[in-house]
Amino acid sequence: MDSRAERIGTNETLFREINERLEGLNQSFSELTDKIEFVCECGLGTCIERFSMDVADYEKLRGDPTTFAVKPGHEILDVEDVVDEHGHYVVVRKKAGEAAALAVAEDPRS
Ligand SMILES: [Zn+2]
Repeated sequence: MDSRAERIGTNETLFREINERLEGLNQSFSELTDKIEFVCECGLGTCIERFSMDVADYEKLRGDPTTFAVKPGHEILDVEDVVDEHGHYVVVRKKAGEAAALAVAEDPRS
């Protein structure tokens, strides 16, 4: 894997870890909402965007370790494909290869 693809993959898995913790925190503090604020999981490194997502959609996202949620325009099309569009965020899937393997290896739920 080249260093750029590796850096992108590392950023994405880092933000996924943060979102896993956000989901846990939100669930313990509020049983009343079905929407949670998550951070953009893009590989840009400098991004601090946030958006809200249904818990059910987030759970679906985490069901596949190669998918990540990013702001529209934050997808990096040479390493990932857009597989779902929700308006204020899109779901991307890592292209098959070492970056996808990294995403699976770093899956916090595995
Ligand atoms: Zn982003």
